[in-house]
Amino acid sequence: QKELLKVNNLKQHFPIKGGFLGRTVNHVKAVDDISFDIFEGETLSVVGESGCGKSTTGRAILRLDEPTSGAIEFDGVDLLSLSKSEMRKKRKDLQVIFQDPYASLNPRQTVAQILIEAMAIQNAVPTDQRRARAIELLETVGLNADQIDRYPHEFSGGQRQRIGIARALSVDPKLIICDEAVSALDVSVQAQVLNLLKKLQKEFKLTFLFIAHDLGVVRHISDRIIVMYLGKIVEIADKKSLFENPQHPYTKALLSSIPTPDPEVKKERIILKGDVPSPINPPQGCRFHTRCPFATELCKKEAPTLRHTDNAVEGHHAACHHIEKIAAEQ
Ligand code: SF4
Ligand code: MG
Repeated sequence: QKELLKVNNLKQHFPIKGGFLGRTVNHVKAVDDISFDIFEGETLSVVGESGCGKSTTGRAILRLDEPTSGAIEFDGVDLLSLSKSEMRKKRKDLQVIFQDPYASLNPRQTVAQILIEAMAIQNAVPTDQRRARAIELLETVGLNADQIDRYPHEFSGGQRQRIGIARALSVDPKLIICDEAVSALDVSVQAQVLNLLKKLQKEFKLTFLFIAHDLGVVRHISDRIIVMYLGKIVEIADKKSLFENPQHPYTKALLSSIPTPDPEVKKERIILKGDVPSPINPPQGCRFHTRCPFATELCKKEAPTLRHTDNAVEGHHAACHHIEKIAAEQ
């Protein structure tokens, strides 16, 4: 399997200005030294509570915000070395779908204009074929050709998300970053859009980075899943292994809050104490220690790194000092 995207030691520290000289007095450590790869054709999901750094990671890859440090290699190209205009051209291969399609669709443009403009920016399709292609794309995402001259406000939320998907597809990208792309939709509409994305992935050989706060939502779409907490990756595994054999106490807590479809499977709900601490001064040692039911003195002093243990299959890594002990107790 070929890596399409390689993220190495990515940090995103946003300065906080203060004092009467407006100097930088501190930093929000939104993403704090994370590394991962995305393989061609897979769906890698990044999951965690709001503020864990998942959207920041997506924005850094797209260079919507310039990362503080680290390396991002996409399809053999060092993205951070590209000029602004080279990066704009690269966006042909790297598209994004946001949570609120309404905010990212120009209300004064018809669907045809929106799609044709996206193609024009990237010079993606010959000028005289763009309208025909727009109609084709609309049908591909499950809308009708005769809706092409309507405005975004004439569509429902789910339909608008389909327009956002059509726009992303219009330039024939390799990777699509879906940032909470279905979070605002009703559950039934959510399922329809997820099914559509799965279908399009096969049809267009797409790779997805799927960002969501809910493990339940990413369950069916993911091949692998990353769990983030306070700017760090705490666990990474293929979906089956993560759901059936979670290693990190935070992942276990997230999983315990998803309703099980099978009432026979009894699940103990793990309630975490307290709120997520501030990413300005994250806790020393393991960042999760203030909320972890298994925390020890070691956890307060030493930050655990991602590691593989005999408890899990190859490629399943978690960052916790006490994986073995916790597994033995349960
Ligand atoms: Fe909990 Fe300690 Fe593991 Fe962190 S390292 S998750 S505090 S047991
Ligand atoms: Mg977000």
